[in-house]
Amino acid sequence: MDLNTQQILHISSDAMISKLKKLHLENLWDFVMHLPLRYEDNTHLTPLSDLRVGERVLVEATVTHQEIQNRPRRQLIASLSDSSHHTLFIRFLHIYPNHLKLLATGNRLRVAGEVRQGFYGFEMVHPTVHLADGAALAEHLTPVYPTVAGVHQNHLRRYIQYALEQVELTDTLPENLLQSLKLPSFADTVQFLHAPPPEYSLKQLNNGALPAWQRLKFDELLAQQLSMQLARNERAGQSTVALKGNGKLITALEKQLPFALTNAQKKSLHEIRQDLSQSHPMHRLLQGDVGSGKTIVAAMAALIAVESGFQVALMAPTEILAEQHFAKLQQWLTPLNIRIAHLSGSLKKKEKDQIKSIIASGEAQIAVGTHALFQKDVIFNQLGLVIVDEQHRFGVAQRLALKNKGHYVHQLMMSATPIPRSLAMGFFADLDISIIDELPPGRQPIETKLIRNERRPAVEQFVRRTVSEGKQAYWVCPLIEESETLQLKTATETYENLVHTFPDLKIGLVHGRMKPAEKNEVMAQFLSGCLNILVATTVIEVGVDVPNAVLMVIEHAERMGLSQLHQLRGRVGRGGGESTCILLFDNDKLTEIAKSRLKIIYENTDGFEIARLDLNLRGPGEFLGARQSGVPLLRFANFQEDIHLLEHAQKIATQMIEQNLPHVEQHLNRWLPQRDSYLGV
Ligand code: ADP
Ligand code: MG
Repeated sequence: MDLNTQQILHISSDAMISKLKKLHLENLWDFVMHLPLRYEDNTHLTPLSDLRVGERVLVEATVTHQEIQNRPRRQLIASLSDSSHHTLFIRFLHIYPNHLKLLATGNRLRVAGEVRQGFYGFEMVHPTVHLADGAALAEHLTPVYPTVAGVHQNHLRRYIQYALEQVELTDTLPENLLQSLKLPSFADTVQFLHAPPPEYSLKQLNNGALPAWQRLKFDELLAQQLSMQLARNERAGQSTVALKGNGKLITALEKQLPFALTNAQKKSLHEIRQDLSQSHPMHRLLQGDVGSGKTIVAAMAALIAVESGFQVALMAPTEILAEQHFAKLQQWLTPLNIRIAHLSGSLKKKEKDQIKSIIASGEAQIAVGTHALFQKDVIFNQLGLVIVDEQHRFGVAQRLALKNKGHYVHQLMMSATPIPRSLAMGFFADLDISIIDELPPGRQPIETKLIRNERRPAVEQFVRRTVSEGKQAYWVCPLIEESETLQLKTATETYENLVHTFPDLKIGLVHGRMKPAEKNEVMAQFLSGCLNILVATTVIEVGVDVPNAVLMVIEHAERMGLSQLHQLRGRVGRGGGESTCILLFDNDKLTEIAKSRLKIIYENTDGFEIARLDLNLRGPGEFLGARQSGVPLLRFANFQEDIHLLEHAQKIATQMIEQNLPHVEQHLNRWLPQRDSYLGV
């Protein structure tokens, strides 16, 4: 916190400053924008005769009795009464000496809290209590701010009031725009929200449709749209190599493929080719459900770059997936005389150095790997295209490293986690999106079964039958976030149990603690058909492609997220045969939300629909995994609920930028002062 802010707010304690920092309150503006979570009505007193359960009220009454009870636990109870001769009990489970004094019989008190139905009648537990000293009641509704331990609401209220008096609340929207949108001015908006007039009810104030909230949401969405559109314009202004290719390599590859591209794949490839032929960087997201065939499209995009004389980097989130991509690309592209380097984590230093040298010399036209590809010591000769598989699994830092590698290279991102329209318009507005919305022909639908844990023996029978038909099965143990050790234990135990149940079958185990080389070894055995059953932790979640595996058993499905379940399930049904996914769940641990998830996964197979339902269930913050990626999300608006405001904001952002208004800069400075650090990633 700067000195000026400290002086204006009269804060001198370092402890307070560091607590405020936790609330992201570091300058006057932060305080102005620290808006209430909710409000309390302290503008009038409620007679004890009018109490209703569940309501928060302020009452004034006299203590008629005080006692400390020891059962069922030690607590302080006082009864109060007012001129209506009704009684209210108040209860404290921690007994402080000053409470004993304050609640002395005969004291007249102001008490605020939520009314509950207690054993003896209406009661409040841990209410706020003051001596009734005849002080005037509040004139405005009282804001209740988000806070942390040690920062009292009264502190926040005082600081925010000082800040409001000092900060210039000039509007960043053009006057005519405000009028046409019928929104209040910015100054009125924040003044109103910090101190709403008493005629507004608590209910009205919590309603997002209130003009003041609408204004804030609009401002926030506008800032987001402005920054996205500016980033897009900026990219359009950057120059890079146009990768035109001549199409020969793609034709050669097509000739040798056992299948033809689906129309959706062709369309996506066409869009990518258009972008690559431009002399500004592509920034395109290729979306397609699990198994929709994104890899071959990516391989063809790579061919365009290669035949234009440039290198391609293909980055995958896990070693297993990188290995798979490498194997696929080799199979497809080695006959075309293309050299592919695989920078695997399991290589010895000497081998790594050798791979790096063929990347640096340009001998390798394509380099495959995890984010290790973008470490400082990996140097490309002529990088033209970067392909990122499962882009949502990479953090912002990794994506930044990638961006800094090649100077404005073309970027193709791929994701099987579909982004619903509202989010695509909002959060991903600076990406162009291609969608593969059809699965390759001949896919059998996957039958999903929900089975309680107790019926495990029947599941084992099912596994035996599948294996006896020459097919293979996955047995997946859940990710236990709290403890990797615990996860390992579950996987190992499951493995041992299965070995015990099926002494005659070949069973493999892969988990996150194994060395990449060991993992790859087991995966290779499974792929070649040497193993009947593969026990795995969720490491197989992305991308593994074993057509003969037609059964997947998922343990503790109730613990898994929807997109994870959908991705896992997509690992089967890749060959021609009928496939089954069995979700084992523990009925005793089934929360409401887990129940909804299982119902959704059971009833739906379309990844887009599942993503939409998931978004509804969890809200956008969780959905995007923002905490993990560190991208700032919206504080006030919600892409899903406020889609009409988002549509306005999108149009108006375009107009403001076109008209080159000074408001653009002002608005962004107000709302996204640190925007440069994450934009365009
Ligand atoms: P994802 O989109 O999940 O990454 P993949 O690229 O791994 O999917 O493709 C899944 C499987 O479908 C692979 O075995 C791939 O070779 C195959 N495939 C891709 N496109 C087609 C197609 N047009 N017709 C038939 N099979 C295809
Ligand atoms: Mg894939």
